Amino acid sequence: FKVPHPVNEPVKSYAPGSPERKELQQTYQDLKSQQLDVPMYIGSEEVRSGNKLPLTMPHDHQHVLGYFHEGDANHVTQAIEAALAAREQWANMPWQSRAAIFLKAAELLAGPWRARLNAATMLGQSKNAYQAEIDSACEMIDFLRFNAKFMTEIYAQQPESSPGIWNRLEHRPLEGFVFALTPFNFTAIAGNLPAAPAMMGNVVVWKPAYTQIYAAQFLMQLFRAAGLPDGVINLIYVDGPVAGDIIFSHRQFAGIHFTGSTVVFNSIWKTIGNNLHLYRGYPRIVGETGGKDFIVAHPSAIAKEVATGITRGAFEYQGQKCSAASRAYIPANLWPEVKQAIVDDLETFKMGSPEDFGNFINAVIDEKSFNKISKYIGSAKNDPEVEVIAGGNYDKSVGYFIEPTVLLVKDPAYVTMCEEIFGPVITIYVYEESQFEEMLEIVNTTSPYALTGSIFSRDRYAIDLATSKLLHAAGNFYINDKPTGAVVGQQPFGGARSSGTNDKAGSVFNLIRWTSTRTIKETF
Ligand code: GLU
Repeated sequence: FKVPHPVNEPVKSYAPGSPERKELQQTYQDLKSQQLDVPMYIGSEEVRSGNKLPLTMPHDHQHVLGYFHEGDANHVTQAIEAALAAREQWANMPWQSRAAIFLKAAELLAGPWRARLNAATMLGQSKNAYQAEIDSACEMIDFLRFNAKFMTEIYAQQPESSPGIWNRLEHRPLEGFVFALTPFNFTAIAGNLPAAPAMMGNVVVWKPAYTQIYAAQFLMQLFRAAGLPDGVINLIYVDGPVAGDIIFSHRQFAGIHFTGSTVVFNSIWKTIGNNLHLYRGYPRIVGETGGKDFIVAHPSAIAKEVATGITRGAFEYQGQKCSAASRAYIPANLWPEVKQAIVDDLETFKMGSPEDFGNFINAVIDEKSFNKISKYIGSAKNDPEVEVIAGGNYDKSVGYFIEPTVLLVKDPAYVTMCEEIFGPVITIYVYEESQFEEMLEIVNTTSPYALTGSIFSRDRYAIDLATSKLLHAAGNFYINDKPTGAVVGQQPFGGARSSGTNDKAGSVFNLIRWTSTRTIKETF
């Protein structure tokens, strides 16, 4: 049970003048000037419904990158049928062959496909080159390489036997198909949600967010170029409720692999619960949802480190990470220095199109997001109890641009301390140095989420206190670092409470959900 030992893909720097920078810039321009016609992929077919909708760039919403063919209820049914038709052969394929396909995809992505996927993520999702690189190249490659290893660990799980009796476990795929519902914010998540169940021998219907279709179709082409057989993963672009009506009432629905909002996940869970009588078994429900991720500084922390944790943790990819820092608790003794360092740091953050590699901040994903985020900022600006420390401006005339915004509040339960905004906004509460322990209790109870969080401290007692008091407040807990940027194989990712089922993407715990094990006892 061995596959090539996985190593995390090194991150390329795209330094000025480097060949990789030139290649990425060229690929970006080439793709930008094409008008792609993007089909759905169902079974062996590239399906063009004729109902074409534009794919635009968040940072220049009048620029059309291409058109995708939107599907309807019939396409959902066809995708399920194509998946089920492929099921037996795929499930019976030796695991080594399945692993080989995805390992090949990893190597294609590490090499010739890298610039294409990165450029697509920059264009379609408005990520800067570095954020695209750590997502659509490195994290996607890591998921594929490490998941191949995790699958071997699962298959190697075998029970004891005794003289005259041979016990064994058969780690079967689920009986039916898996639905992968993927979010706009990570290309790697878009790829992993269908790929992880498929690696374990399942067949998949994959529906990406409309704002992610541009990169998703390249991923699909990558999997096919690596040898993925027809029908194993079927990519459709269909309105959520239309797809949900058919999928969640299908007898062969066997599981959902989800990343998205808590509201949508809750409603899916209820639908599945109500429809249980329709299914053959209990579907696997694996979901990563929202976050209201925190940074707590202890009075012993180093102010500059706290400030960097805030600016990077809150504003990379415009704060559109479930893991993004969005509330911070700073002791009064550190605040003047932290505040100055935040303001200084933000002055160096340029905002604009990812086409200019010097822009750290790009656009938020679409108008709906822009309106939601700017509404929170607008009402904070009008509130005399709130001070705007940095940013606060927004403009959607060309692209959906929102300045990185830092709010200071007097009430630790202020609305922006509690609700997920999913944009470049962090709210800070300054506490009395003597109140550290009380502060931890507030951190623990302020929000319903529990995805990520950080403690900054040089005092080991304080670190240990925070680690124990915040036991259930974060599924990924960081000591003296920002709460974003989990690396596959190093920091398995996921949270509990309203943040999801905590089945840890990038670990054996996730892959094991895509098996249904049979125990065999043979007596001689
Ligand atoms: N895994 C990512 C991180 O650690 C966040 C994933 C998400 O936004 O869903 O930053």
